[in-house]
Amino acid sequence: MKLLILGCGGFVGSHLLDRLLSRSDVEVEGWDPEVSKIAKHVGNPRFTFHQAPCIDGVELRRLEERLAWADALINLAAICNPAQYNTRPLDVIRTNLFDSYPIVEACARANKWLVYFSTSEVYGRTLSSYTQTEVDDPGLYELREDQTPLIMGPVSNQRWTYACAKQMMERIIYAHHATSGMPFTIIRPLNFFGPRMDYIPRSDGDGIPRVLACFMAALLRGDPIKLVDGGEARRTIVAIEEAVEAIVSMLDRPLKAQNRIFNIGNRNNEVTMRRLAEMMREIYAEITEDPAYSDHPIIDVSSETFYGPGYEDCDRRMPDLTHAHTLLDWHPRRNLREILLPTMRDYHARYANATHLDDTAR
Ligand code: NAD
Ligand code: UDP
Repeated sequence: MKLLILGCGGFVGSHLLDRLLSRSDVEVEGWDPEVSKIAKHVGNPRFTFHQAPCIDGVELRRLEERLAWADALINLAAICNPAQYNTRPLDVIRTNLFDSYPIVEACARANKWLVYFSTSEVYGRTLSSYTQTEVDDPGLYELREDQTPLIMGPVSNQRWTYACAKQMMERIIYAHHATSGMPFTIIRPLNFFGPRMDYIPRSDGDGIPRVLACFMAALLRGDPIKLVDGGEARRTIVAIEEAVEAIVSMLDRPLKAQNRIFNIGNRNNEVTMRRLAEMMREIYAEITEDPAYSDHPIIDVSSETFYGPGYEDCDRRMPDLTHAHTLLDWHPRRNLREILLPTMRDYHARYANATHLDDTAR
């Protein structure tokens, strides 16, 4: 299998490379301006790496030439950090829409299989978030790839720049398929968790990362865990290693995976952000063997204070996984504790000393 991967140096890309390069029948050529998470693969004879963004110009021409060699192109490249959707809206739209657009055009010209990483945020908010009634009808909250309407908040709530750009990309990809037959697979990830997700602020990055790294940073630094708008938002969480198995299953079964959209998540691991914070501090007490972490402070903050104006949350993401079950024979099994324990151990091992050191140095 010969693959081109854009964004191979990020969280998902680094785990996907671990898995793909463990197989002797896979060759990968990848692009990413970031190398730190995949440094161990650089130099592997089955991996050609371009430490650069794949955008207009020389890298895009190179990619277009390499399409003839490849069986598929996987596009992971994105800005996908909610703290940036309302604070860097033009960068978010440019990266997720305009920089991705020529990649799709190139795949369409070459009639090459495009595996595109979209997001569950294309669903926006659930129908149930607009009703005042007690919700027991799954049709009001369950996310079905081919049926559920896509509902986003107003333009002034710039949180939706990312979701809107990703949704537009899905529609462009679908239009190319419908017009010229370009094979495609669209993946809608639902909160993959695992080691190497984002960064720890003031240690190896700046700003606000996604929730796993936010809560980890608070535990590592002794800062309070912050719950946005009461911590009532719900997410379903799946292990990155299991999500990668779903992707590999797609690559191994093109006839089943092509020309479809897949939710990839674990509906058994639904949790509110408040409960997630409570679980993480309990698990961290276990990892550090320090029972005081069980009472680590959790405080409430408004989304306006935390993210700035224009934030609006996705209330709930409950995926219908019928496609993934029946076409890919994919059944994620790890429960939330089984995901958090090794993930948090990994963060602890990599950052506990470093964060204390750089705090003392300040
Ligand atoms: P990430 O931010 O860790 O990785 C994205 C990578 O893309 C980064 O390393 C970045 O440097 C790179 N990149 C950006 N522009 C590029 C360009 N023009 N050319 C080459 N590389 C470029 O994000 P991730 O968590 O690995 O997510 C991967 C994909 O999955 C993204 O498209 C994201 O929208 C989607 N997704 C992920 C999740 C999740 O739970 N991780 C959830 C929803 C959607
Ligand atoms: N969140 C939180 N505290 C934080 C960071 C995030 O309560 O320190 C909440 C955020 O408001 C959202 C959820 O956690 O409801 C998930 O946020 P994440 O950044 O992981 O992105 P999302 O799942 O929305 O794409």
